[in-house]
Amino acid sequence: MCALAQDELNVYKSAEARFEIAAQKLTLEEGLYRYLKHPSKEITIYIPIARDTGRLEVFLGYRVLHSTIRGPGKGGIRFAPDVTLDEVRALAAWMTWKCAVVNIPFGGAKGGVICDPMKLSKSELERITRRYTAELSEWFGPERDVPAPDIGTNDQTMAWVMDTYAMHVRQATTAVVTGKPLDLGGSQGRKEATGRGLMMCCNRALEKFKMRRDGCRVIVQGFGNVGSQGALLMHAAGYKIIGVADIHGGLYNENGFDIPKLYEWVYTQRKPLPEFPGGGEKMTAQEILFHPCEVLVPAATENQITTENAHRVECRILCEGANGPTTSPADTIIEKKGIFVVPDILANAGGVTVSYFEWVQDRQGFFWRESEVNDRLLDVMNQSFDQVVSYAEMHHVNNRIAAYMVAIDRVARALRLRGIYA
Ligand code: NAD
Repeated sequence: MCALAQDELNVYKSAEARFEIAAQKLTLEEGLYRYLKHPSKEITIYIPIARDTGRLEVFLGYRVLHSTIRGPGKGGIRFAPDVTLDEVRALAAWMTWKCAVVNIPFGGAKGGVICDPMKLSKSELERITRRYTAELSEWFGPERDVPAPDIGTNDQTMAWVMDTYAMHVRQATTAVVTGKPLDLGGSQGRKEATGRGLMMCCNRALEKFKMRRDGCRVIVQGFGNVGSQGALLMHAAGYKIIGVADIHGGLYNENGFDIPKLYEWVYTQRKPLPEFPGGGEKMTAQEILFHPCEVLVPAATENQITTENAHRVECRILCEGANGPTTSPADTIIEKKGIFVVPDILANAGGVTVSYFEWVQDRQGFFWRESEVNDRLLDVMNQSFDQVVSYAEMHHVNNRIAAYMVAIDRVARALRLRGIYA
């Protein structure tokens, strides 16, 4: 791979490039620019774990706190074999901008552990989670830094985080983490929230272009928490899901898939997605991105749409479920093609929004009905979508840069009011 391509695939550089464009357009003061560009704190943790065989192994983990200017740090914990510090830095910064775009009172943070959850037993994963949390017990806290699930972690992981933290501070503190099971202070609607927020953005975009939802062709790459829930909800709302993919490969069927059956196949029967007997042409998980459709939802991982392949994307609306699925240099190609982009920091913000609702409910000790959660989410997503799109039109920038500008401006205003403590 050439040096240029390596730079393009560095998500921290992609995040930085967009921040720089937006900061310049905002004519952000030089000092604030330097302050907001860098994370506030980074920690590297060596996590010693006894494997089930008794063998001692050391895993490498990170937590990056990008900003606490508007509120406690907020961001998921990722367990994956290819996690890097740069990736965690980018994801932490994106959390700051994401929380600011939807105007919830959080800063940004992210964590990661280099491990392969598929190759670890449940008890090994529990030990990694507990040791990681114990090392961060002075950083975490409902008013400091509030983790959540991300790739490779789930509600059970969050229950272990909560319990470990509670043991250290000697009191049950449900609001220290979100994305928990319902029995432990979780929120109704959290599991579906990122997918639901995605669908709300797609609905709004279709309304804008006066396009019909019934039969609107959608391709979803990634069938994990975000992709599967998004696909289920969109299928139920009348969209036609003609392409699906996960790490094992992709399937295309112009007649559309029965998504509840596919979900059952993958999650109940635990069978590989590409072997789904509901029909469809098999292809790689990347090829699926290049079929014509009205809505393309990359909801798997970073760097799927690059300068090498962006010219092959044939959708009207690109709604980014994953964080950083489009590289920064590929933005220009997508823009030239006239594709309407709902950028990641807006499109997938439904998850952190309902995480915020969970944190509020935990702190109140008073829980809402699912319909209340979903109604509040709809208000936040519609308002944020409209703000970003009208900002883009007013300032003649694309939606991604508009989202960054709205977010950076909110954080900068809070920072000017707080001033610099020295
Ligand atoms: P997950 O681990 O539940 O699912 C990931 C899915 O992507 C799986 O189906 C996996 O098989 C697939 N996948 C992984 N690599 C792939 C590849 N190279 N090609 C095709 N498919 C691939 O993770 P998730 O929670 O659904 O997160 C997906 C993305 O959404 C990530 O970028 C994450 O940061 C982002 N995100 C998640 C949330 C959330 O609430 N979970 C919120 C906001 C953003």
